[in-house]
Amino acid sequence: MERTFLAIKPDGVQRGLVGEIIRRFETKGFTLVGLKLINVSKELAEQHYDVHRERPFFAGLVEFITSGPVVAMVWQGEGVVASARKIIGATNPLTSEPGTIRGDFGINIGRNLIHGSDAIETAQREIKLWFKDEELVSWTPHLAPWLK
Ligand code: ADP
Ligand code: MG
Repeated sequence: MERTFLAIKPDGVQRGLVGEIIRRFETKGFTLVGLKLINVSKELAEQHYDVHRERPFFAGLVEFITSGPVVAMVWQGEGVVASARKIIGATNPLTSEPGTIRGDFGINIGRNLIHGSDAIETAQREIKLWFKDEELVSWTPHLAPWLK
């Protein structure tokens, strides 16, 4: 079953949006299979954002992600990678559609509340980077027939 990696960034945690953000994926019908609140090390932040290493915002991004607790999550479900990106909204919250997490709660590209893997292969890499196998819980929710 397809899985994606999502992380509520320090601004989302500081603003008290953890419950609101989790609710959106839960009520959509995706299954939570991994969840932890952590202080991110510089090494993990740099590996996570490795593709952006040469970008001018890289140092600031790493500093921000390591500045406070982050909620790291793995969610599972059919098409979850692309669907989660839609639920999250465009990178710049000034242009994200209302109804998306960034569109509803964000105004700054450097403080856009949540990370979501951008492709299935990226998700596999990020899940491995952030979670040990034993931290992931395989379970099947007793879905009502209309969610199946
Ligand atoms: P996304 O998180 O939507 O996948 P990117 O992978 O392009 O976006 O960028 C990773 C993160 O880097 C963004 O979520 C944002 O926090 C930050 N970022 C991207 N572009 C900028 C920018 N121009 N200035 C500051 N931060 C940026
Ligand atoms: Mg990205």
